[in-house]
This record gives sequence, C-alpha cells and structure tokens, in this order.
Amino acid sequence: MCAVAEGPGDGPSVSKSILLVEDEAAIREMVQHALSRAGFEIRTVADAAHADLEIEALPPDLILLDWMLPGVSGLEFARRLRRRDATRRIPLIMLTAKGEEIDKLSGFEAGVDDYVVKPFSVKELVARISAVLKRTTPVGDDDPIEVDGLRLDPGSHRATGRGEMIRLGPTEFRMLHFFMSHPERVFTRSQLLDRVWGRSVYIEERTVDVHIRRLRKALSGQGYDRFVQTVHGTGYRFSRHPD
Ligand code: CA
Repeated sequence: MCAVAEGPGDGPSVSKSILLVEDEAAIREMVQHALSRAGFEIRTVADAAHADLEIEALPPDLILLDWMLPGVSGLEFARRLRRRDATRRIPLIMLTAKGEEIDKLSGFEAGVDDYVVKPFSVKELVARISAVLKRTTPVGDDDPIEVDGLRLDPGSHRATGRGEMIRLGPTEFRMLHFFMSHPERVFTRSQLLDRVWGRSVYIEERTVDVHIRRLRKALSGQGYDRFVQTVHGTGYRFSRHPD
C-alpha cells in the first residue's frame, strides 16, 4: 500500500480537526507536531475511554486510531464508533505497526476508511488524511436525488427510504451518491475506486466488494439493495430495473 502525495503545502483551507488515539507518547508527540504544522487542529489521547470524552466534547473531522491499544483495541473501538449515530460518519484511519498481524478486511468491514503503516512519513500521513477527508466530504452537486422513494440528500448528508432513515457509513454514502448520480451504467471496481475513493489513494479492488456488501445491507431494510446490481465479469451498476 502506498499513497501518492497531493503535493506539499496542499493542506486544508479550513482547519480540520483530528483526534489521535495512540498509547505511545513518542508517536503522539510526533504526529501532533507534524499535523499542527500542516494546518490541522490536533488533539491526542492515549486510549478509547479518553477518546470517548474528547469526541463527546467536540466531534473531530477525522480520527487517527492506533490498532494496538491497551484495553479496548482500535478495531473494537472502530466498531463502536460505527454503531453510534453521533460518530458513524467520522472518517477513520488506522495506524498499524509494520509486521503487525492485522486483518485489513475486518477493519474495512468495521468501517475503517484507510490504513497507515508505522513507521510512516509525515508527508504520507498528511496525504492520506487529505485524501480521506476529500472523499468523505460531500463536494459539488448538493441537490437531493430520489429514485422510487430512495432519497439521498448530499446537503444534509442523509439517506432515507420512503421517509425512513437509512444508516450509511461515509464511504457507502459517497458510493450511493455516485451510483444514484450515474444510474444504469456499469462500473468496474477500478472505476469505482477512482470515482468514489479518489485517484490519490491505492486500495485493493476487493475493498470495493466489502463496501458494496455494506451498502446492500444498509439498503436491504426497504428492499433497495436490489438497485445495487452485480454485473458478472464486469462490476456493478445502480438500476431500478431488474437485472
Ligand atoms: Ca499501540
């Protein structure tokens, strides 16, 4: 996994707030210093319990979460954040140590948006954060889209099915937005990675399948999962017509 830098000085125009959850003091200090230099508001805590307090006080725009934490692990904490309405849309980047036995797929299933492997360079970390923020912040067309009672409102970042709230993670929301803005067209996994995740990030293609599964599950309550269709040998399509 490698990130393509967005270029130095490509920091956020409005200060974005980041919460770092990391038990190693040296990494906390390094990241705090680097990210404040890059123009981010950064808060740091050493464990999940303190992270909860910080999030409750002021929800951050993004959370950097160490995988190996004392007490509640990073993965378990990620799952918790995704279960709560107040935190389910906050983008998450996991920090993992080189050689650490981690199951990235279970991380993506838990709603993790990206990974950074220690030791990482400041440039890579900033590039990853910028890429994740870019793809999880709604941009461009903010008009609500509706298909057969399935309604997506980019302005309020809400999706509803016949008036009932549909709970979506940030990647699923963006994916559904992309699909609903491009109905009846087949997209390959690689095209979806480009359009939904952004070109500046490298993620394995099977990650697309994980998020498709999550999206279908979220839509299945009202039967809208049938709109997200697999086109065998090619990829996926959003269509209101049976495939
Ligand atoms: Ca650790």
